[in-house]
Amino acid sequence: MRVQHGHGLADVITVRCARCGGKVFRYDKAGKGRLLHCWRSRIVKDYSVRAAAEVRCECGNLIGTDEGKWVKMKPHSFVCTGAISRG
Ligand SMILES: [Zn+2]
Repeated sequence: MRVQHGHGLADVITVRCARCGGKVFRYDKAGKGRLLHCWRSRIVKDYSVRAAAEVRCECGNLIGTDEGKWVKMKPHSFVCTGAISRG
């Protein structure tokens, strides 16, 4: 059993394409829970391919939509690895 509380470190995760496994973002995710959108100011490294508001992987898979302050993530199009567990 693991209890987590009071950790002050940022958790930088890697957001990967669910189709090809390629990197899309390195993202500073504060807190737990599912990733529904990525704040642009917290994107540490951006590997995505942009076409207007569309955010895609190199393989062409649509990952999300750029809505200005954040990228609204498309469910099931990506996976997160790194500091948080899968799911
Ligand atoms: Zn891909």
